[in-house]
Amino acid sequence: MPLPNHATTVTGGCSCGAIRYRIAIPELEDRPFHPMAPPAAGSRLPDTMTCHCNDCRRSTGSFLAVGVVEVPAPMLSVSTIAQDSESTIVSGRFLDVMASHYDAAEADAERPPYIPAADVFRATAESRSWLRFYHTTKAGEDWSRSFCGRCGSHVCFHFKLVPEYCHSGKVPDNWQDVFHLYLGGIDREFLDKGWFAPSTEAMFKYGTPFSRCVSATADCLKHVTKLKEFDEQVTKEELAGLRS
Ligand SMILES: [Zn+2]
Ligand SMILES: [Zn+2]
Repeated sequence: MPLPNHATTVTGGCSCGAIRYRIAIPELEDRPFHPMAPPAAGSRLPDTMTCHCNDCRRSTGSFLAVGVVEVPAPMLSVSTIAQDSESTIVSGRFLDVMASHYDAAEADAERPPYIPAADVFRATAESRSWLRFYHTTKAGEDWSRSFCGRCGSHVCFHFKLVPEYCHSGKVPDNWQDVFHLYLGGIDREFLDKGWFAPSTEAMFKYGTPFSRCVSATADCLKHVTKLKEFDEQVTKEELAGLRS
């Protein structure tokens, strides 16, 4: 089941609750088309994909392709607990969030305010919160990967759109940052709704033989569009080879 057409809010965060986020999804007609996809594809954000790239594999330690939801900047806000003065706050731990009596509004009242994600996930300075940035290939204003320094949960891959990435050759008027939130960090109640089945598998050419074989053969994945990198489709011959 895809995301509902009406406006809704999805939440998630790290295991210890130092990092929590909200995705405020507007009703369907107000969701932007995916700037990197041809308009004919009709793909709107948020969209869900898997990524077979080496950077996702290494940073998450996942042997299979990593699932992410792609969120544009205007929809995402983040609350991070500071490493020093506020570190006694207990809010958003994963078992608490999964408890039947969990009250999100009450839990959020105790914690720092939710601020625009672009102010959090752009690695412009050393973070004073528990959010940490991987220092592997790139970590900066335009491109970053982040995790929680207190519990180790992977949180987000972030990049700034540039014209070359966009199908129209032009970045959207009102926003530029895209956030790939690891699907395992989305709160369980939303995963249980079945809203986050991937629509695309990207960077397929970089997958391991095992991850590509699983994607080509598993019932839930074999019909999902597979891209060599981000645009050209994997050939039928290659997929047939993986299935034989
Ligand atoms: Zn944490
Ligand atoms: Zn990747």
